[in-house]
Amino acid sequence: MSSKLIDGKKISAEIKNNLKISIDKIKNNFPRTPHLVVVLVGNNPASISYVKAKEKACQLVGIKCHVERLSEEVLESDIIRYIEKLNQDDQVDGMIVQLPLPQNLDEEKIIQTISSLKDVDGLNNENLGLLASGQPRFVPATPLGVQTMINQLDFVTEGSKIVIIGRSKLVGIPLALLLSSKTPKGNATVTICHSKSKDIGSHTLSADIIIVATGFPHTLKKDMVKKNSIVIDVGVNRIEDKSKKNGFRLIGDSDFDEIIDIVSKITPVPGGVGPMTIAMLLENVTKAFYINNAKKL
Ligand code: NAP
Repeated sequence: MSSKLIDGKKISAEIKNNLKISIDKIKNNFPRTPHLVVVLVGNNPASISYVKAKEKACQLVGIKCHVERLSEEVLESDIIRYIEKLNQDDQVDGMIVQLPLPQNLDEEKIIQTISSLKDVDGLNNENLGLLASGQPRFVPATPLGVQTMINQLDFVTEGSKIVIIGRSKLVGIPLALLLSSKTPKGNATVTICHSKSKDIGSHTLSADIIIVATGFPHTLKKDMVKKNSIVIDVGVNRIEDKSKKNGFRLIGDSDFDEIIDIVSKITPVPGGVGPMTIAMLLENVTKAFYINNAKKL
């Protein structure tokens, strides 16, 4: 592997090893192990494969994971009722609803139904508000994974210039909050670009770190990147590839093959941010276990 690659698989494997040790201790001292419920609606192939990866990772570290598979035709009121039941269930520590949901369902309403103490994806308004006010509880897993990766590098965020392309509630906004927070792992000067930004290259060309999360291949081109900067590519795009057994391959949002010669470090897709997201979800579930069982421990 090129020394320029930030190996998300390796970093996440270390995190999972440490988590396994913590969860083994829980098992020795508590009648049950941390428990995650994943709500999966419909048959979106990408969602199915993400959920499988989450299930497998839970199994590896010793977290109990139940996947509630619901049909595409499920009623919104039924999902809400199910989430409300889980909110009351003291055997469940965390829950996530795999996104995106089918168009007929109100994603925001469903996410906001999850108890903020079990919202291990960190997407409900209370958790985002806590992050914005500098008192994070559950931080969305992908931004947390990106911040952890940056911390693993020999790089000081304080005073650095970071440009994030993308302003979603899932990635760009919480990441900007984390990296600009008044903390040793933050204190960066963060610029957010989005689809209405003009001349994004004029921002990225002076950035020490560029994080791209748009969901569109070729968003970050080589003429937008400063020599020796760091690129974190969050994007996951399925591109048809007849040479592959499954008929597709995954690429990110940056022109990886051209950019790697310019940068000091870059994340591959796959094998970069993706595995970190899963590791951080497991950390959030373990944190939820401690929060929700504090009185019993
Ligand atoms: P999203 O909700 O669709 O948000 C995309 C953001 O990118 C929006 O803010 C949009 O701007 C902006 N954007 C779109 N085209 C742009 C362009 N040409 N130039 C500048 N900005 C542009 O997507 P998301 O949920 O944040 O996900 C982004 C990507 O990350 C996707 O490929 C997704 O699959 C991937 N992802 C990966 C992981 C992982 O674990 N690896 C986790 C989450 C997401 P507007 O706000 O103006 O529309």
